[in-house]
Amino acid sequence: MNDNMILVFDLDDTLYNELTFVQSGFKAVARYLGEYYSIPVQTGLDFMLEKLSFGRGRIFDDLLTEYGIYQKELVHKCVSIYRLHQPEIKLYPEADACLRRLHNYPQYIVTDGNKLVQANKIKALGLDQQVKYCYITHRYGIKNAKPSPYCFQKICEREKVSPEKVVYIADNPHKDFVGIKPLGFRTIRILQGSYKDLMLSSEYEGEQQIRSLDELTQEFIKRLTGDK
Ligand SMILES: [Mg+2]
Repeated sequence: MNDNMILVFDLDDTLYNELTFVQSGFKAVARYLGEYYSIPVQTGLDFMLEKLSFGRGRIFDDLLTEYGIYQKELVHKCVSIYRLHQPEIKLYPEADACLRRLHNYPQYIVTDGNKLVQANKIKALGLDQQVKYCYITHRYGIKNAKPSPYCFQKICEREKVSPEKVVYIADNPHKDFVGIKPLGFRTIRILQGSYKDLMLSSEYEGEQQIRSLDELTQEFIKRLTGDK
């Protein structure tokens, strides 16, 4: 290896399909409500999936209201089941192949989101065994969530490298690149998930774009480092 790059991956919609986590969480909630409140499991699940297109904010409130069992405490119970359930999720096959193919590079994860939820996802995907370290930004305080460069700077310290040696591969142009680009970190946007078709001004964009992690090869990384 002569480029000495450090690979940092986002989690949701970069290494696995986040929608599968949402569905898996809804299933756990539907099973609970089926058992204790006799809402038929499939009916409850269909209701939540249907509502999903309008956003995740009030889905449990709406479901409980629909069945006349709305109580604030029960909403909280649903949220906690959703967050703490053992997720049935899998890496994208291309992600799995990519991590294996590039195993000679130090690999990290930087992900935002609820600490317990993200830790459960990482465990379910086996990433804690596969990469060097997973940074869940919220462990360091909300202010250090993306676009903050905080966790990326921790990786630089840990690896004793400058930002030019660290490349972040991620899907969300709102927050994934804008905070780290000015510091010299390298960025690759993967056109996947719900932001796939969103184009923002250049400060928000990754310097490179790929459509699949199949494109992320050692050749690609070498070319990237040759650019600067
Ligand atoms: Mg993401």
